[in-house]
Amino acid sequence: MKTDVDYIYGETLPEPGTAMEVVSGIRWIRMPLPFALDHVNLFLLDDSDEGWVLVDTGAALKPTQDLWEQVLANELQGKPISQIIVTHFHPDHVGNAGWLQERTGAPLWMSRTEWLSARVNRAEAQEQFQQYAPEFYRRTGLNDLLVEELRDLGNHFHSLVSPVPPIYRRISEESALDIGGRTWVPILAGGHSPEHVCLYCPDDNLVLGGDFLLPRISPNVSVWWNEPEGNPLADYIRFLDSLDYMEPDILVLPSHDRPYRRLHERRADLIAHHHERFDLALEVCAAPSTAADVMYQMFKRQLDAHQSRFAIGESLAHLNYLVDEGRLERVADDNGIWRFVAAG
Ligand SMILES: [Zn+2]
Repeated sequence: MKTDVDYIYGETLPEPGTAMEVVSGIRWIRMPLPFALDHVNLFLLDDSDEGWVLVDTGAALKPTQDLWEQVLANELQGKPISQIIVTHFHPDHVGNAGWLQERTGAPLWMSRTEWLSARVNRAEAQEQFQQYAPEFYRRTGLNDLLVEELRDLGNHFHSLVSPVPPIYRRISEESALDIGGRTWVPILAGGHSPEHVCLYCPDDNLVLGGDFLLPRISPNVSVWWNEPEGNPLADYIRFLDSLDYMEPDILVLPSHDRPYRRLHERRADLIAHHHERFDLALEVCAAPSTAADVMYQMFKRQLDAHQSRFAIGESLAHLNYLVDEGRLERVADDNGIWRFVAAG
C-alpha cells in the first residue's frame, strides 16, 4: 500500500547528531534504531526564552545517547531543553525520557495511559512475560517452535528504555499547549498504542503525527497477550475517520520516514488497506481458521520471530474487529486454540 504523498524536502534528511529546521521554530532530529525500522524522528519546538520542548526521545542505546550528546552540545543555541513530551510508551519514543530528564531536569508530559503503560512495562519482570505470553501465542495456533521463540524474545523494554520518570504531567484533550507562540491541541487516540498523542496546530496547519500518521508503512496495530480480546483497530479506524476537519494541505511531521503533505489521501489508503485485510480474513474464515492460518495468508513472506510477533498481533486485531462487528465468531477448541468462523 503506497500513497503518493508529497515529501516536502524530498530525500533530504537531517545529518546524524544535528537538528534541521523544517518550519520556523521546529527542528527535526533523526535517531538510529537497531530494527528493520532503522530510525525514529524527534522534534524540537522552540519555546522562546524558556528553551526547547522536545517531542520524543529515541531508544536508550549507546549510539543514540552519543548522538544526544552532540545535540545537547551543539544544536540548542545555548538554551535548555525545558519540557519533554512523549507521544506514546514504545521504546523508540520514551526510551531516553528518564535519561534526558536526569541530564536536563525537564518535566515529562505524556497521556496518562501511555505513562502508566511505560511504567508497567519497565517494572514487569521477565518471568511474568514468559509465564503469560506463550499461552496467548499457543492459542493463536502458532506452532510450538515459534511459540518457544516468541517466549525467548522476552520483553525488550528493559534494554531499550531508561527508568521511566515516576512523576509526570498529564496531556489530556483539554490541555492545549502554548509553545513559543504556537498553540498545539492534543489529539488522543488508541490503535498502535492505547492513548497516543498527536499534536495539532490549526493556526499553522501542522500536525505532529507520531506513529499514527505515517506516510509509507502502515502503523502496527496489534492485539497483545495482556488484552487478548482487545479491538485496537476499531480505535484506530475511528481516529483516521475523525480527521476530516484538517486542511487538505496540512503538513504532517511523522515519527518515521519524512515530513509530508496529502494526509487525506494517506488516511483513505490506510483505511482501504485494513478493509482489504478484513475481506481476506473473512475469506479464510469461511472455514474455521486460527489466527495463525489468517496470518500466513496476510503475510506471505518469510517472517522471523520478531516479525511474527507483530504479524500475529495484526492478524488477531483484524479478527477481533470482525468478531466485535458480529461478522465472525470465535470458539475455543478442545486444546483452547481459538478458531474463527463466519457468524451464522
Ligand atoms: Zn510506536
